[in-house]
Amino acid sequence: MTRGACSGTMIDTKIREGGCACGAVRFKAEGEPVRVGLCHCMDCRKAHASAFMGFTVYRRGKVELNGATGRWLSKPWYERHFCPQCGSRVAGLDTNSDEIELPLGAFDEVGAFIPQYENWVVRREPWLRPLDVPQNSSDRPAS
Ligand SMILES: [Zn+2]
Ligand SMILES: [Zn+2]
Repeated sequence: MTRGACSGTMIDTKIREGGCACGAVRFKAEGEPVRVGLCHCMDCRKAHASAFMGFTVYRRGKVELNGATGRWLSKPWYERHFCPQCGSRVAGLDTNSDEIELPLGAFDEVGAFIPQYENWVVRREPWLRPLDVPQNSSDRPAS
């Protein structure tokens, strides 16, 4: 991946790109995520129509989101953004913090992230094996 010509520093900050299935919404995330996890909660299952959700968390200032999104609030403080054309989930915004979640599966690159914990493991499909990472029965404990 190349950066603009103005990147004059010795260490090039990693930029990872991703977006929705149809390409109408795209994003760029700079640097490494704050954390990476899996969530098995019912909201994530339903929102992604998937057995579980893999996600990355970035500081909002490190993410550039391009394209109009639709959104719904699964909690009063949590906006789930999606592409209005193809319906893909593209971002989750915790309005109580400066964090933004980008779904692991929305990134263009496969194998870029390794989950560091699992949430809502009580909702995990019985055929899925736990990863060798902290297992939270519900949300991640506040740190
Ligand atoms: Zn789309
Ligand atoms: Zn969840």
